[in-house]
Amino acid sequence: MTTRKGPDELSEELVRWLEEEDPFGLNEEIKTITFVCKECREEDDVPDFVVGEFRLDKKKGEEVEIQCPNCGGTMIQARNNPK
Ligand SMILES: [Zn+2]
Repeated sequence: MTTRKGPDELSEELVRWLEEEDPFGLNEEIKTITFVCKECREEDDVPDFVVGEFRLDKKKGEEVEIQCPNCGGTMIQARNNPK
């Protein structure tokens, strides 16, 4: 009995693999979210998945805040706070 995988099955597996977490981001475009510092106005593009991890600690609807690498202040998502 042969259980060799056909090409279709293989690519299905590949797609499934790609849809799972891709720690190297080799095959996916990395989305970034712009954060802006409330103190010094420094802007920083943070990869989406990093923001997602911060979001895990937040309640729904609560804003993600990260620490400014420039001044140590609080950075918030720029798009929610235009200007
Ligand atoms: Zn700052």
